[in-house]
Amino acid sequence: MKIRLANTAGFCMGVRRAVDLALDLQRSRPALPIVTYGPLIHNPQTLELLRSKGIEEVKNIDDITGGTVIIRAHGISPQEKEKLEAKGVKIIDATCPRVNRVQIVIMRAAAKGRFCVIVGDEDHPEVRGLMGYASAGGVAAPDPDAIPDAIPTQGDICVVAQTTQEPERFNRVVEKIRAINPNVHVSDTICDSTRRRQEEVGRMADEVDLVVVVGGKGSGNTQRLLNVAQAQGVAAVHVESQEELTPELFAHVRRVGVTAGASTPNWQIRRVIDKVKHIARSSDTGLRHSLRRVGDLTVMTYLWASAAGAGLTAACLALQGIAVTATPLLVSALFVFSMHILNRILEGSGAVRFNSPEIAQFYDRRRGVFKVLGLTSSVAALGLAWLIGPWSFVLLLGMLVMGRLYSSRLPEARFAGLPWRSLNDVPGSKTPLVALGWGTCASILPIINDPQLWTAAAGVSFLFAASAVFWRTALSDLLDIQGDRIVGRETIPILIGIKKTRTLLLWLLFGMCVLPALAAALGVTTVTGYYVAAVLPTFFCVYQMYTRRHLVDRLLWEGIMDGILIVAGLTSVL
Ligand code: SF4
Repeated sequence: MKIRLANTAGFCMGVRRAVDLALDLQRSRPALPIVTYGPLIHNPQTLELLRSKGIEEVKNIDDITGGTVIIRAHGISPQEKEKLEAKGVKIIDATCPRVNRVQIVIMRAAAKGRFCVIVGDEDHPEVRGLMGYASAGGVAAPDPDAIPDAIPTQGDICVVAQTTQEPERFNRVVEKIRAINPNVHVSDTICDSTRRRQEEVGRMADEVDLVVVVGGKGSGNTQRLLNVAQAQGVAAVHVESQEELTPELFAHVRRVGVTAGASTPNWQIRRVIDKVKHIARSSDTGLRHSLRRVGDLTVMTYLWASAAGAGLTAACLALQGIAVTATPLLVSALFVFSMHILNRILEGSGAVRFNSPEIAQFYDRRRGVFKVLGLTSSVAALGLAWLIGPWSFVLLLGMLVMGRLYSSRLPEARFAGLPWRSLNDVPGSKTPLVALGWGTCASILPIINDPQLWTAAAGVSFLFAASAVFWRTALSDLLDIQGDRIVGRETIPILIGIKKTRTLLLWLLFGMCVLPALAAALGVTTVTGYYVAAVLPTFFCVYQMYTRRHLVDRLLWEGIMDGILIVAGLTSVL
């Protein structure tokens, strides 16, 4: 069974902004009482998560007694806002800027005395909030077959859409209103994100046998995605969670499409995809399926990342003009394997529970086995490092201890006053530390015993290796940003923002390609610099994939990124 995931699935800009505002506020001021006025977004799992972080929902303004109040992404009416302000509470406005735009359109129309028709569901919180701006009178029109009598036959009328309406329905309602009163001023305020999502599910419905729509049952835009798919005549099912999927649903299905509403978090979509994959695997057979499974396992168990560590070491040795031998490659591979496995186990199912549920489950079931494997590979790496030289042994020992300390925490009872009780808590620490570890192991560890090898080429190869690993890890952080934010892990994208991280990655990639080529041209390194520089631009393709498909299969993604490092190593040696 083939699984196709919609590019547009997942949080829209407005929902992401609202959830980020709430989580960032809670993270920066954990003692502050925070409530949301009404549900922040329409997704029960996300609301449950906010509740677990102490962010409660209050339905009635009269029940708000103090603290900080977050206004939901759908916005509220000006009258409700005034009531909140009169309470003297601190207000954080998480209204989506696109909803704000509709509020302004209605406000201006009302100032000109125009009656306002909002094409949307009367009971939807966005429509209720918008209606508060229609001071010259207004009504909601949900359907072309249910045009309200209140629409005046004379005078000017302003028609807007609830941001998540179907364009086709909106146009039909406008035509009906025009027939009643031709003085219609239409503003198509359907949000682009909604439009793209609906268009994509329409195209997807033509190419699959079943569409799975993931999202809250109370989410209007999710419901509309289901309507669009069904209107195309394809079987479609709306689920809130993976538990609602059964193998019977997929009987005779060869191609399945998965999409999600604007308020569905990535981790919920990943859980649904994992379940679909699980069902597909139980029925799929054949060589392609077996190869795919072996590929997934190789990446999931960090064997592929270990090969990437060895590849990076080969490239660094070749850059320095040192013969590539098996021992330093094995040390790197074992170091990478043991560090990743042990940190995965020590970290427990924290952020990975949200970022990669399949991986979290895989490790939860085999903790003991992987602990033994991780420790054994640490010892084996140390033994091999000793064969390279005593300083290699000391350096590796230091790195392994640092790696072990990274996830270890000081006891809360004695160190409660400290801002960070583990290295893991230091904001943005993970990515540079991983880069430093891999970079040192690939370029410094093999040469540290011989001062004659401490050349400028060693410096260039360290910079190249550390930058490549920094790049790879920071891009993974971008992919994992929702889960990391939920568990309060401050990665680089959370610290400096998505835009700045993207800019940083692009400049770093430019530097990574120029540095080895320039070093080779100046004779600082061997001609390997040219080959490495030729392989690295493929990272740009990975970056492009990220900008278009932020929900691409996590294992495939990691496989490609580490595959580039393996190819860089092979190219250098060959
Ligand atoms: Fe904003 Fe559009 Fe998302 Fe609604 S669907 S919250 S208008 S971005």
